[in-house]
Amino acid sequence: MKLVHSNQNNILVHNAKNLIEAQGIETALKNEFVQGGVGEISAIDSWPEVWVLNDADYERAIKIIATTNDNAVDWVCEQCAEPNDPSFEICWNCQHEKAVTEQ
Ligand SMILES: [Zn+2]
Repeated sequence: MKLVHSNQNNILVHNAKNLIEAQGIETALKNEFVQGGVGEISAIDSWPEVWVLNDADYERAIKIIATTNDNAVDWVCEQCAEPNDPSFEICWNCQHEKAVTEQ
């Protein structure tokens, strides 16, 4: 299993999951029901997460998310899977270029 997407917005996480599964990739959700349970764990640890069950699907899943996010939401780096602010043109973490989405 590999983590492909995490966001504090549960709707965006579900959207990412649906997009990945639409391509025939099996996924699992983690932390779906811990919203509001912040206290003993840090806030970011409680964000819902989308995982792929098969590691071999990881790169495809990342690309699906990277190419379907519109510019109004965070984009996920293809290379390191870190979420980036929409205004960033390169990944803050690894300096990988933002994937260009054809309109
Ligand atoms: Zn990166």
